[in-house]
Amino acid sequence: MKMRTVIKIGTSTLTHATGRLNIRRVEELCKVLSDVKNAGHEVILVSSGAIGMGVGKLNLSSRPSDMPTKQAAAAVGQCELMYVYDKLFQEHNHTVAQILLTGEDLRDEDRHANFANTLNRLLQLGALPVINENDTVSTDEISVGDNDTLSALVAVSVKADLLIILTDIDGLYTADPRKDPSASLISVVEEITPEMLAGAGGGGTALSTGGMATKLTAAGLCMKAGTDMIIVNGEKPGLIYDVLEGKPAGTRFVGRKDR
Ligand code: GLU
Repeated sequence: MKMRTVIKIGTSTLTHATGRLNIRRVEELCKVLSDVKNAGHEVILVSSGAIGMGVGKLNLSSRPSDMPTKQAAAAVGQCELMYVYDKLFQEHNHTVAQILLTGEDLRDEDRHANFANTLNRLLQLGALPVINENDTVSTDEISVGDNDTLSALVAVSVKADLLIILTDIDGLYTADPRKDPSASLISVVEEITPEMLAGAGGGGTALSTGGMATKLTAAGLCMKAGTDMIIVNGEKPGLIYDVLEGKPAGTRFVGRKDR
């Protein structure tokens, strides 16, 4: 079955801890995604990494906390990000298109419709949309805030069959596996429980904003709209094939079928 798939790539998957590009990882990912497109699936990428890569390119010592430096880093990093995607997807004959959104764009009916129309047209034209938050103009009041939530809003809005979130862990665990060795992977979630929310805590790494809490928010949005969401480890891009073939991989949050 041909699927419309939104794939979210986090900063921790794209970059080393230095903020510099993880070349081997990104090359592998672009190859798998190109192949998935060649097989007839529709691919929409939601990619973080603008701020992380800006930090690397500007030689800043850490992720900035003040808004102007964050936005400046995003402006530099977004360029670099698209340059890399353009170059790597081009090698496999795919054309990328950049879409930058704010929370306002998705809340406003007309702007939302314009976004959806453009995205559908890009897919008809065979292009590969790459979406990120428009960090240079997003401030707290209008931002979505994190790309896990952004990717879920996009997946719901374009009626995707699947949202695949690539991150730096194998999926959702019964406890934090970095602290508790008895933690086990939960492979299927039909309902998000208060225990899961309590266990998710804060999150993210030095360069990223996510963590499990934002992924559960994203899962909630998808499940309510009837879209499946899967968390898999971005270290193994080949897992994307398993997900599309319906094989077990990571954690699958099952979309409600009774909508
Ligand atoms: N838009 C941010 C960036 O590109 C990332 C937000 C997130 O990682 O959730 O750096």
